[in-house]
Formats: sequence, structure tokens, C-alpha cells
Amino acid sequence: MGANVLVTGGAGFLGSHLCDHLLKEGASVVCLDNFMTGQEANIAHMQNNPAFSVVQRDVADSVDQSPIPSIIEEIYNLACPASPVHYQENPVHTLQTSVWGAFNMLELARRTDAKILQASTSEVYGDALLSPQTESYHGNVNPIGIRACYDEGKRAAETLFFDYHRLYETRIKVVRIFNTYGPRMHPADGRVVSNFIMQALRGEDITIYGDGRQTRSFCYVDDLIEVIYRMMHSREGFTGPVNIGNPGEFTMLELAERVLSLTGSRSKLVFKPLPQDDPKQRKPDIGRAKTELGWEPKVPLDEGLTMTIDWFKRGL
Ligand code: NAD
Ligand code: UDP
Repeated sequence: MGANVLVTGGAGFLGSHLCDHLLKEGASVVCLDNFMTGQEANIAHMQNNPAFSVVQRDVADSVDQSPIPSIIEEIYNLACPASPVHYQENPVHTLQTSVWGAFNMLELARRTDAKILQASTSEVYGDALLSPQTESYHGNVNPIGIRACYDEGKRAAETLFFDYHRLYETRIKVVRIFNTYGPRMHPADGRVVSNFIMQALRGEDITIYGDGRQTRSFCYVDDLIEVIYRMMHSREGFTGPVNIGNPGEFTMLELAERVLSLTGSRSKLVFKPLPQDDPKQRKPDIGRAKTELGWEPKVPLDEGLTMTIDWFKRGL
């Protein structure tokens, strides 16, 4: 018998891929989602699987457990909008999602004695003054800026996880996810990879924010799901935090050029204002993931982009 697993945010981009992976591993999966940025289409193919069920609920709402099954062995806490466009729409709710959501899921883990994994983020490093970013770096977050609802929410969630671990010996696993892309990103998600691909495929201008010299490190979704699963099943007592992502670092101009060349698009680059507090450089140090989890990403950017472009093309 596989494990009984709860995935919050299971109808989203990463969550739905994780549900697929867990079902393949023989788990029974409950997906909890409020469908704010998630889509029915992401999970439609799982709906007839008796090992899969959906609870439509806000993770920030009360800790009343019904209709979540009483036996839960693992919780993956992914519920939270991840695109700056969406998490800034209702910043107060974003903070509630991260903090109350973490609290509610930690309480559930405590009651059911489940192991719990938190999807944290590279955003805890803010506009990092150190590159590559190691887990020991405490970050450079503007606590009153427009990204703070997400960054500080995720930081506070990490705090809650480690306090539950110290106070109640809750079995926690914390991963800090760096920019990830792939099929099932919402076309209107607003993040850079989906924006550039959609713009290139439609022949629209490619919107470069700022001068395009800021960097990000992009991980293909399959690599990321594999390491999230490994983290949940890592040695007893290994809590993380652990950086997970692809250390290959690219400027947004380089990303735009690759998307243009892989799509064969003639779209032009246009420059738009850089959003406030947009981090200049982001690259994970993945030494800890290599040592503790025996993991490193395998899919190079061009290969991952090609698979993602094919998927977006099919949707058009
Ligand atoms: P996504 O927006 O596609 O998915 C988030 C899911 O959570 C959606 O299905 C959404 O409906 C659901 N959700 C949001 N608020 C909720 C709430 N209050 N209650 C219940 N459900 C709620 O984003 P994603 O890229 O799949 O990200 C998943 C997780 O991974 C997030 O926690 C995000 O912070 C984290 N993360 C993602 C990335 C990335 O590059 N994709 C990077 C760092 C961290
Ligand atoms: N960006 C861009 N054009 C877009 C969307 C984003 O140049 O259409 C830039 C954005 O300013 C940031 C980077 O791409 O520097 C990554 O943005 P994204 O929203 O994907 O994620 P972030 O890492 O900022 O959370």
C-alpha cells in the first residue's frame, strides 16, 4: 500500500505534476486547492483514478479537518500563488495563505503525525547580495515592498516550520525552490518563461523588464518534482532548508534570444520598466541537494524550453 498524501496547491503548475508523480509511486492523493491560480485542466486526467480526490478549500481557512481523511502520512504544502502578478493582486491574502496556511498544515501534521514538506522559495533571499545563494545566507528582503507579502510570508512560514520542529518534533522538510518552468504553466501566469513563449508564438512584442541584464536560473519541472519527492523521503532528521533548482544562470535578454530562436519567431524586444525590488541576480548553490539527496538537474535549458514550447503550441 502506498502512502496517504495531502498535496495543497495540487491543481497548480508544480502541484499537479507532483500529484502525477505520487500516483505513479502508488500513493493515495488528496489535492486541496482553492483554484485561485490552479486549473481543473491540470488535474482532469486524474479525476477518474480512485486513488485521487480533490478538496476545494482555502488553506488559510480554519483547521477543521473534514473532509480531509483522518489518516494522512505526508503533507506537501504548495498552496500559494507563485507569480508576482498573482501574489500582488491580493497581498494580504497572499500573506495569510503562506502564514496561516503553514500554521494550519503544521497543526494537521501534528494531529496526524504526518511528515510535512514546505515549498519555500529563492525569494527568501530577496535581492541577494551573494551569488550563488547558499542556504546559510539570510537574504536581503525589503519588508515593506510590493514583493514582501510573498517573500516575508514564505520566510515566516519557514520560521513556523522550524519552531514546530523544535517544540513538537514535527518531522519537517523545507525546500527552497528556484525559478521552475514547464508544461501546465498558465499561459496568462505572468512569469517570464510563459510570457516570452506566448508572446513569441503569437508574434507579439517580447516584454523585457528593465535592461534585461538581471539573471535567473531556470529548472525544468521534471527535475524539480524528482527532488521534491527525494526530499520527502530523505534521511530521518534531515530538515533542510535545501536549495533546489538549476544553477545554469541566464540574463532575461539571453532567455528572450533562446525563445526567439527555438520558436523561429520574429517578435521584437520591447523594454518596460523594471518592477520594484526585482532581484538582480539569482543562482542556487545546490551543494547540499547533491550531498544529501544525491540530486542534480539533468534537463538543459534548450531541451526544457523546446518541450514547454511544444506544450504551449498544442494549447493554441
Ligand atoms: P501555481 O500558482 O501554479 O500553483 C499554486 C496553487 O496553489 C494553485 O493551484 C492555486 O489555486 C493554489 N492556491 C493558492 N492559494 C491558495 C489558498 N489560499 N488555498 C488553497 N490553494 C491555494 O504556482 P506553482 O508554480 O505551482 O507554485 C507552487 C508552490 O511552489 C508555491 O508555494 C510557490 O510559492 C512555490 N514555488 C514555485 C516556484 C516556481 O518557479 N514555480 C518557485 C519558488 C517557489
Ligand atoms: N520579466 C521580464 N518580462 C516579463 C516577465 C518577467 O523581463 O514579461 C523579468 C522579471 O522582471 C524578472 C524575471 O523576468 O527579472 C523573472 O520574473 P518572474 O516573474 O518569472 O519571476 P521572479 O523570479 O521575478 O519571481
